[in-house]
Amino acid sequence: MRVPLLKPRPIRLSDHRDDLAAHEASGQFSNFGPINTAFETRLRDEMFGGEGACLTACNATVALLLAVKEAVYFGRRRGRYALVPSFTFAATAHAAAWCGLTPLLYDIEPETWLPSGEAERRLLDRHGDEVAVIVTYATFGNCLDLGAYADLAARTGVGVVVDAAASLGARDAGGHGFGRGAPMSVVYSMHATKTFATSEGAVIYSADRERIARLRQMENFGFDSARAAQMPGLNAKLAEVPALQALRKLDEIDAVVRRRGELYALYRSLLPDFTFQRQTGSHAVHQFVPALLPEGAGVDRACFVQRMKEKGVGLGTYFSPHLAEQPYFKDISVMDELPVTARIAPRIVALPLYDTMEHAELRYVCDSARACLR
Ligand SMILES: *Cc1c(COP(=O)(O)O)cnc(C)c1O
Repeated sequence: MRVPLLKPRPIRLSDHRDDLAAHEASGQFSNFGPINTAFETRLRDEMFGGEGACLTACNATVALLLAVKEAVYFGRRRGRYALVPSFTFAATAHAAAWCGLTPLLYDIEPETWLPSGEAERRLLDRHGDEVAVIVTYATFGNCLDLGAYADLAARTGVGVVVDAAASLGARDAGGHGFGRGAPMSVVYSMHATKTFATSEGAVIYSADRERIARLRQMENFGFDSARAAQMPGLNAKLAEVPALQALRKLDEIDAVVRRRGELYALYRSLLPDFTFQRQTGSHAVHQFVPALLPEGAGVDRACFVQRMKEKGVGLGTYFSPHLAEQPYFKDISVMDELPVTARIAPRIVALPLYDTMEHAELRYVCDSARACLR
C-alpha cells in the first residue's frame, strides 16, 4: 500500500464551469472583485460571527510580512526585535526579517507546543522597547489564548501578529472561528497543502476593522483613492480564480474539519506509545498528524522515516530542523534558551492525513509504525 503524507484537495474548478463563465463575463480578474468580496463577507459572517473584517491575500507569507509591517509602522514601538518561536515554519521569521527586524527565537510549551508565554514575558522584561512585535504561532492549528495577547499588547504597547497558517476552519469552544474578536492581525493560509485548500491564497482577520482597512490599502501599493501612496505598500492581492476556489471550499470546510478530526482521534487511539499534542480548542484543524516517537524508541528518527518510506508511507518532520538550526536564521537571529524545542524537534514526525483517507490506509500507517519501531 502507498500512503502519501498529504493529498491536496482544492475544489475542482472543472465542476464549477458556470461560476467560471460568470467570472470571465464580469471582466474583473483581481483588485478585490466580486468573488473576493463575496468570500470575505461570507467568511466573516460564518466563521467570525459577523464581527470585525476579513481580507484576502496572495499567500500567507506575504500577508504575514504586511501584518508585521502594519503592526510596527502604525504601532507604538520602534524596537529592532521580533519575538518568533523557533518551532515554526520559516515564513514566520522571514516575514519579520523582510520588515528589517531581528528575529529573537524563543521556546515553546512542553505539551501544547504553543509559544512559551513565560519566555515572552521574560524577553519583554529584559529587552523592553527593543521588542517591536511578537509574531506568535498557533502551532499546527492549536488554539492560542488570544485574550492574553490582547492584554499584553494593551498593557505594554508591543505589536502582536498571529501566524495561524494552519488554522482556517478551526472553531473555538463557543463554535466560532479561531481568532474571532482578536484585535490584532490573525493570518491564515489557504495553500493547497493546508486543510482549507485552494492553490495559493491567504486571509487576514481582525476584529479591528480599521486595521483591515489599512492592510487592504497596503496590499494595493499603499494607495489612496487618488493613487498616491500614503503608507508602505506592495501588491499582495488575491486574484479572482483562487478566490472562487476559496468560496467553494467554504461550503465544505466544516465537514472536512470534522472528518479529519475523526481520523486524528483514530491515530491517537491506535498509537498509544506516541506522544500527541495537547489540544487547547474544541475543533482543531489538522493539516497532518504531528507526533513524537516514543521516548527510548529503538530507532532514531531518520531511520524510522526511511523504514516507513520503504513500506510506502510518506512522513514529514515539521518543524525539524527548527529555525535556530537553519543556516540563514542562525546567521540573522538572536537565540533565547530553547530546551523544550531541542527536546521535541528531534523526536517529531508528521503522519499522513488527507480528506479522502480510508480507515484501512490509516491502520496500515499505524501497523507499519509499530513494526518500524522494533
Ligand atoms: C504554510 C505556512 C505558512 C506559509 O503559508 P503560505 O500561504 O504558503 O505562504 C506560514 N506559516 C506557517 C506556520 C505555515 O504552516
